[in-house]
Amino acid sequence: MKKYSRQREMILQSLRNRVDHPTAETLYEDIKAKMPEIGIATVYRNLSDLCETGQIVKIKSKNGPDRFDGNPEPHIHFECDSCHEIYDIYIHDVQTKKMDNEIQRLAENIGAEAESSNIWIYGFCKKCKLLKNINN
Ligand SMILES: [Zn+2]
Ligand SMILES: [Zn+2]
Repeated sequence: MKKYSRQREMILQSLRNRVDHPTAETLYEDIKAKMPEIGIATVYRNLSDLCETGQIVKIKSKNGPDRFDGNPEPHIHFECDSCHEIYDIYIHDVQTKKMDNEIQRLAENIGAEAESSNIWIYGFCKKCKLLKNINN
């Protein structure tokens, strides 16, 4: 039981220390360096438990396998269509309120009531946008 919690703590901390929304495999490579005895199945199991307790969030990438987010606070995701990097977008309280009202109104279009939302923006990140402009 003790070993189990220690592994979970390590997985949680490794994820919280990154901002790149890694896949389970990427995270496993990271943790293995510090904890060589850990197996990928343990990483998968703990990630899924941490999602259930709401400490982390599983995010569905448009491209490739699921990614994980160590920050359970609501925020918007931006996925670059070119380099597939996922960026966090944080908005201030006034914008959040406006957006929540807008989402509520959209749900009302079908007579529903919104409880939560998950917003993704796709396009070209700052880096790839610059490259695209240079090549054109
Ligand atoms: Zn990019
Ligand atoms: Zn995020």
